Parts: sequence; structure tokens; C-alpha cells
Amino acid sequence: MNKKTIRDVDVRGKRVLARVDFNVPLKDGAVADDTRILAALPTLNYLLEQGAALILCSHLGRPKGKIAPGLRMDPVAARLAELLNRPVTKLDDCVGPEVKAAAQAMQPGDVILLENTRFHPEEKANDAGFAQQLAGLAELYVNDAFGSAHRAHASTEGVARRLPAVAGFLMEKELEFLGRAVENPKRPFVAILGGAKISDKVSVIESLLAQCDRLLIGGGMANTFFAAMGFEMGDSLVEKEAVSTAASLLKSTGGRIVLPVDVVIADRFDNDANSRVVAPNEVTAGWRILDIGPKTVPTFESALSGAKTVIWNGPLGVFEMSRFAWGTFKVAQLLAELDAVTIIGGGDSAAAVRQAGLADRMTHVSTGGGASLELLEGKVLPGVAALIDK
Ligand code: ADP
Ligand code: MG
Repeated sequence: MNKKTIRDVDVRGKRVLARVDFNVPLKDGAVADDTRILAALPTLNYLLEQGAALILCSHLGRPKGKIAPGLRMDPVAARLAELLNRPVTKLDDCVGPEVKAAAQAMQPGDVILLENTRFHPEEKANDAGFAQQLAGLAELYVNDAFGSAHRAHASTEGVARRLPAVAGFLMEKELEFLGRAVENPKRPFVAILGGAKISDKVSVIESLLAQCDRLLIGGGMANTFFAAMGFEMGDSLVEKEAVSTAASLLKSTGGRIVLPVDVVIADRFDNDANSRVVAPNEVTAGWRILDIGPKTVPTFESALSGAKTVIWNGPLGVFEMSRFAWGTFKVAQLLAELDAVTIIGGGDSAAAVRQAGLADRMTHVSTGGGASLELLEGKVLPGVAALIDK
């Protein structure tokens, strides 16, 4: 990675403004899933051990530029205090004279959590004055919010242009794994793509195809490829506008694309539907593909054998319904057993691997949905571009 990290700067005695991704699910006024808070701890603990005073900021949900009482950061502060095992002072705004005064009174080891940055419309507008106010709180800026780095907002981009700005450990790790996989993978490099739509991911497919040795396609995305091969898809999800793109990808890639050899079809989009396993060219009217079939698993297994890097984005079936999660979980198991660098990108894919209980057995499960896809496309993320080069 060509960006400076917290290891490259002296933070002792400094007030450090860290942008973290504390956009966590809440339930009954408490944090329902603290995965994202846990992911920031290595950076926060390091900064505290090095003698910094920490001012943390994040967005939470979609308050649309107004104060939304249900999206205050108080439950996050409570959970964070438990995890850091030290007091966390939660402020009721993220800018303004009171925030400034509280920041100036900080001692090394103190932790402040600012209020939800998106209570201010200036956050998403990347307003210069607002970014300047955030910058005025601290002497150093650390971005550890990989999941927000594809957005040029005041707390992710504007502020980084107004303070010395470096990456935290989570940001570093995300950029290392996802960045290296597209730029310089250990081979054979196999990519697996699924999910609902091709149109969202055409540039991801193109960018991965430029690098990978094999590309396995499943999920709803495969349907559009089958349609391009002239197969009847019944009521399956097919993107008509993307059929010609799929056809030209099939033509241009010299057999590196591997598609399912059988599929699970259902007579309704429902966990209790009638279902059967058929070949992809046997889908009949009134039925839809909701998962890959059992013969596809060994097909994918042999396409994966010997792989040294595997990137997976997009579930291979409608895994939200337990009956159609089978193929996704099976492939997760294949990856867990592989002696390779395994990287999971995408929000739903990460959720699926977690649901399968296999997240710990992957080399890296990205914390960023949209950001991980943009990185896989080879795009430069604005929140990363704004950090100091090495
Ligand atoms: P990610 O968030 O990991 O990038 P996507 O958002 O692209 O993944 O895709 C996830 C969605 O794709 C899931 O909601 C899943 O139900 C859906 N999906 C997977 N296979 C199919 C299918 N055969 N038909 C319809 N939807 C599908
Ligand atoms: Mg998704």
C-alpha cells in the first residue's frame, strides 16, 4: 500500500481525529451487532497505547441531514466503553464551540465519540467549512472507515485535506487484501461472482476477468449468462438489458468463465415453494432459479483446486431463504478448506459467510460492501486518495 499508516507518524500527546465505521445495527436502543466496532479496536487500542487522545466520528444510518433521535451515537459509546475498558465521552454534536472546548481539554488516553456526522447536511455535501471545523478539533486525522471510503464526504475526504491524514490498521488491511488481489495476486487466481445483478457489477467482472485465471459465476447473475446462451429462464431473475453484455463476455474470455451445471428451481419465490434440480436449459415457464445445484459444487471444487488466491463476491443463491442457502454455504465450505488466500467482498456475501459460521476460516472478510466492489473495479477511493503517500 502506498499510503502512510498510523505506524508512520508520531501520535504521542496528540489529539487524533479518527473516522471509524460505527454504522452498526441497533435494536431496542442497544448495539445489535458490534462486528464493526470490534474491527476498529486494533487501531484505537494502538493509538491509546501510543499516548494519543482520541476523538472518534462516524455516521450511523440515514438521518438525511437532520437530528434523528433514534440514530444518536449513545448506544455505540456504551458498547465501545465496554470494549475499550475505559470511559468514552459521548458529545451531542460533532462540531461547534462545545465540541471544540471538550476537545481542547483532552488528556492522553481520553476518548470522545462525536455525534452522528450525518445529522448535518454538510457531511454528505463535503462542505468546506464543516470539514474545517472537524479538522480544527485535532492535530492528526486517521481514516479507518474503509466501508465509507468510496464516498467523498466531509468526514472521509474533506477533513483529510485539512490535516495530516493517515490510514488505520483496518483500512490498511482492506487495501492490502483487496488491492493486492486485483493488482498482483498469487496464482492461480480464481474469482467467484454471484448476487442478483450483472448491471451493478459489469466493471467488477471486466476488471476481474482481466486478472483471474478462472471466473465462476452463480446466483442471479448466472441467469443472464444462460439467457445469453439461448436458454429458457422461466420466471428467473434475468436482466434483459445485460444479455448482450453477457454474450460478449462469454465470447471474449476463452472459456475462463465457469457456469453452474445444474440449478435448483422453485415454483414460487418462497422458502416453502416446491423445488427441483434441473439442468440450466431445463427451466420451464412458471419456475425460477433460486440456487446452484448439487452437481455444480464438484464442478466449482475442481475449478478451485490448486487456487492460491480466491475472491468471492455475491451469494450463489437466495441465501436469505434457508432452503436456498445450500449452494452458497457449500461453496463457503470449499473456500474454508482451501490452502489459499480467500477474500470475501460485498455486504451480502460477508453476511452469508458469517451465517455459515465460516467467517473465521477466510483470510479476509471485507467490512465494506460498496467500497470493496469499487476497489475490485480498480477504482481509487476518494477517502484513500486523500491520505498522505508513503
Ligand atoms: P453483495 O452484497 O455481496 O455484493 P449482491 O447485493 O450483489 O451481493 O447480491 C445479493 C443478493 O443476490 C441476495 O439478496 C440474494 O438473494 C440475491 N440472489 C442470489 N442468487 C439469486 C437468484 N438466483 N435469484 C434472485 N436473487 C438472487
Ligand atoms: Mg448487496
